Amino acid sequence: MNNKLLKKFADLAVKVGVNVQKGQILVVNSPVECRELARMIVESGYEAGASYVMMRYNDDVVAKHLYTYASLEVVKEVPDYLVEQFKYIVDKKAAVISISAPTPGLMKDVDPTKMQAAAIASNEKIGFYRKHMMSNGSQWLVIAAPTVPWAKKVFPNIDSDEVVDKLWEAILNASRVTEDNDPVKEWQIHIDKLAKHNKILNEYNFKTLKFTNGRGTNLEIDLVKNHIWGGGGEKAANGVSFAPNIPTEETFTMPHSHGVNGKVVATMPLNYQGKLIEDFYLVFKDGKVVDYDAKKEKESLKSLLELDEGSSRLGEVALISYDSPISNMGILFYNTLFDENASCHLALGNAYTMNIKDGNSLTEKELLDSGYNKSITHVDFMFGSEDMEIVGIKENKEEIQIFRNGNFVF
Ligand code: ZN
Ligand code: ZN
Repeated sequence: MNNKLLKKFADLAVKVGVNVQKGQILVVNSPVECRELARMIVESGYEAGASYVMMRYNDDVVAKHLYTYASLEVVKEVPDYLVEQFKYIVDKKAAVISISAPTPGLMKDVDPTKMQAAAIASNEKIGFYRKHMMSNGSQWLVIAAPTVPWAKKVFPNIDSDEVVDKLWEAILNASRVTEDNDPVKEWQIHIDKLAKHNKILNEYNFKTLKFTNGRGTNLEIDLVKNHIWGGGGEKAANGVSFAPNIPTEETFTMPHSHGVNGKVVATMPLNYQGKLIEDFYLVFKDGKVVDYDAKKEKESLKSLLELDEGSSRLGEVALISYDSPISNMGILFYNTLFDENASCHLALGNAYTMNIKDGNSLTEKELLDSGYNKSITHVDFMFGSEDMEIVGIKENKEEIQIFRNGNFVF
């Protein structure tokens, strides 16, 4: 990929993604495969005024060897020096950029109980860091970069030497980075547009959303009282605006966990735990899935729905116009960062506290009583289509058209 475009992408990550401030520390988490991009981000960080850029490389292949050969005790050990490093990041309120470059199927032979034990141990010791980030304690960003195996999965019919460039092209295109544009400017316009959708939807304060299309979707979703539509730009605790996902196209909020009725037909396959669930539908009654079918991998869908009480209820409803850059490419990325931004989607499982007023200070009981859905999982699936109609119903029964022919009307 040409360096000029990569540098534009790096600048976008630093200036719009985390919007690093003069004198702030910037942390860059990157797989070793993405060294070129990581180095550019480090440079962009200093250029934007970061006082120090902390580079943290990771390596999935090394992690695989660890899980394969090391004992359970070793895998579970979280050394103090690592905890100290995360404490430092939190104390300094550093901005954090993470590059995601997955290798599909890499861990397929690894003992899942070992990985789970490691995840639990790490959550115990450095859960404070995750909490700080997830509540926007400082600015953070996730972007993606290709690996050869990921690129081959997305483009199985393209020659090896071209396949990575091809995926780069798609990623940059989806991220609104082109030869002749100013991505930073373009993103400011894009974020304003998403903010406008959020503002209009928040003002309507709908009680229910009604979805219908020619594929057979006929679904009514009640929203929780005091729900908040979010997406695009967010504000960190230090007051700095940032955009945690690049790309992002979604405007999303919180469905009522007991207020979903009707049928939804998926319009894209769902990649769940390495299995591709295809041509499936779900039927909801009072928030819970009561009937479903899939032409492929029905068993996998079953195991998702039966994982826990919350995995058969919704935790997110997201609206995305059919006419959007990612959707227009018609590519299945096998990566949520992209696929969920190609289409209106719902998520089975846990809801986001940011989607309800004062969500970060409510107790768990208060959240659950409001209709917040709790689960150990959160799995997005797509159901948008070119003919999607969405109508919002207000408390006083007034109906407002939100989508016509797959796109926002405002
Ligand atoms: Zn979403
Ligand atoms: Zn989601």
